[in-house]
Amino acid sequence: MTKAVGNIYIVVAPSGAGKTSLVAALLQAEPTVELSISYTTRHARSGEVDGQHYHFVGHAEFQAMIEGQDFLEYAEVYGNFYGTSVRWLQSRLEQGRDILLEIDWQGAEQVRKVFPEAIGIFILPPSIEELERRLRGRGTDSEEVILRRLASARSEIDKVAEYDYIVVNDDFERAKGDLVSIFRARRLRAAVQTLRLAPALARMGVQHD
Ligand code: GDP
Ligand code: ADP
Ligand code: 5GP
Repeated sequence: MTKAVGNIYIVVAPSGAGKTSLVAALLQAEPTVELSISYTTRHARSGEVDGQHYHFVGHAEFQAMIEGQDFLEYAEVYGNFYGTSVRWLQSRLEQGRDILLEIDWQGAEQVRKVFPEAIGIFILPPSIEELERRLRGRGTDSEEVILRRLASARSEIDKVAEYDYIVVNDDFERAKGDLVSIFRARRLRAAVQTLRLAPALARMGVQHD
């Protein structure tokens, strides 16, 4: 029987659109999906835990990882470096796990060059004004950081048509439902179901290779 290899889901959004909140809700609803923990040179915000939200590293360590080809992709985003570990990702995919990458649009473009079958999801805020309200309401970033993130938002939103799915994060529960349904529908595809249901199909006298 063909062994299932996991899917890569890439979730992209302008900062403040609600990506982190939505992804956390998705992981609760779909516990078999695993989140890739990125490496970053950004300082931890209060409440962020090393190894859980990010692997927080210094510039020298990040540079050494680039030279050691440890990253599937990396990018400079809003003045800090962020990267995805290739070794962790590869081993989880081989074990058939579905992996979620919460990365920026530059990283998404790099990943799609290596994995063209990766599924791209864009989280869209209802408006730029609401995006600004959320960034300020979150209370985690300085005025300078907020302005820098807002300035990038429009050009990030420009790329929305390059994604397979768009979720508008207006009402949170509705957006969460939309996100979950993308994962559920992917799992219901016949190519996936015939593998998962092979024993039941065999009992019904149907064989699949
Ligand atoms: P957020 O906007 O609240 O998610 O703020 P962060 O400082 O946590 O992330 C800033 C940006 O970096 C976001 O667009 C993230 O998607 C992106 N990012 C996080 N991890 C990675 C990564 O491993 N690679 C790349 N390319 N971007 C990343
Ligand atoms: P991101 O990871 O995209 O930067 P966050 O998940 O940190 O965004 O969300 C930014 C802020 O907006 C947070 O304070 C969060 O609680 C709030 N937020 C998220 N989704 C919604 C929503 N649907 N309506 C209102 N506020 C939201
Ligand atoms: P965090 O950003 O700390 O991961 O998430 C904060 C919590 O806020 C999440 O549990 C998320 O569900 C919730 N949340 C934030 N803003 C809203 C909102 O306006 N509407 C709803 N329904 N939930 C929100």
